Amino acid sequence: TMAKVLVTGGAGYIGSHACKALARAGFTPVAFDNLSTGWAEAVKYGPLVVGDLMDRAAVAAAIAEHQPVAVMHFAALSLVGESMKDPGLYWRVNVGGALNLIGAAAEAGIRYFVFSSTCATYGDQDGVMLTEDTPQYPINAYGGSKRAIEDILRDFGAACGLEHVIFRYFNVAGADPEGELGEQHRPETHLIPLMLDAVAGRRPALTVFGDDYPTPDGTCVRDYVHVSDLVAAHVLGLRWLMDGKGSRVFNLGSGRGFSVREVIGESRAVTNREVPVVQGARRPGDAAALVSASTRAIEELGWQPRHSALREMIAHAWAWAQKPEYRR
Ligand code: UDP
Repeated sequence: TMAKVLVTGGAGYIGSHACKALARAGFTPVAFDNLSTGWAEAVKYGPLVVGDLMDRAAVAAAIAEHQPVAVMHFAALSLVGESMKDPGLYWRVNVGGALNLIGAAAEAGIRYFVFSSTCATYGDQDGVMLTEDTPQYPINAYGGSKRAIEDILRDFGAACGLEHVIFRYFNVAGADPEGELGEQHRPETHLIPLMLDAVAGRRPALTVFGDDYPTPDGTCVRDYVHVSDLVAAHVLGLRWLMDGKGSRVFNLGSGRGFSVREVIGESRAVTNREVPVVQGARRPGDAAALVSASTRAIEELGWQPRHSALREMIAHAWAWAQKPEYRR
């Protein structure tokens, strides 16, 4: 039988794409998801266990039932703005849930753990290219909670040999190139889907958050990476651990930054339509620029981003937004 991997957040945007990649690589993905933001219909490549990470007994029961060889931990609250308004929620759910999961995994003797961390752990660093060794000074509770989980993993690694790969994501975008999966947040807060909803007339306009940042055109600069490339790195990270190469941190980005205005400009090329835009105030907690110096994953994991050109990411998101499954 095929080795199982417990995928928390397996019904979510990134987790569902990870399940597909794992299935393609010969694993059985077992999605564990409370469906608070995920979608049961997105779990297509293995079983779904509906459960909450805040319920330690439910986590332990899922592990006991399925005996996974590894855990991929995607389930988390992930909105910078929301984390600024309700920091307690982020610390409680993200850290509490991870602690239950890591504890249950260690107790069950699981040896491999792949964790979704974020470039938000770096904070605002004056636009320097961020490497895995850049010191982390998060400026919002989302980034703070993710950095804390990195620390927890290091302690469990030292105490009980839980080998872990930490991936610090930059801005994940796009959709499954075969059109089987895509991004479906409710409410949606991310730039590219909101922009495409505005293009499609599903909302009146895209609000650009701030135009007075210390960046070339005054709007925030982000490094966008295709969700399918991102999850491909996770499979490589799992193999890395199974090959005994030990705990390691990898940034996952394209190594190129685009301003909000540049993203808007690129979308015109994909859709042949104007994006209705209104200028708004800065969103609290946003760093001016977050760009990865993305060489470690390429050099050490042999990662090859294939779809992370901005135009292709927008095109895949646009194709997904035309599907009947796409709901607004
Ligand atoms: N953004 C924007 N308008 C929106 C949503 C996002 O101008 O309606 C900007 C946001 O300030 C940030 C970038 O787009 O600079 C990406 O934001 P997103 O929420 O997609 O990802 P984040 O960088 O917060 O993870």
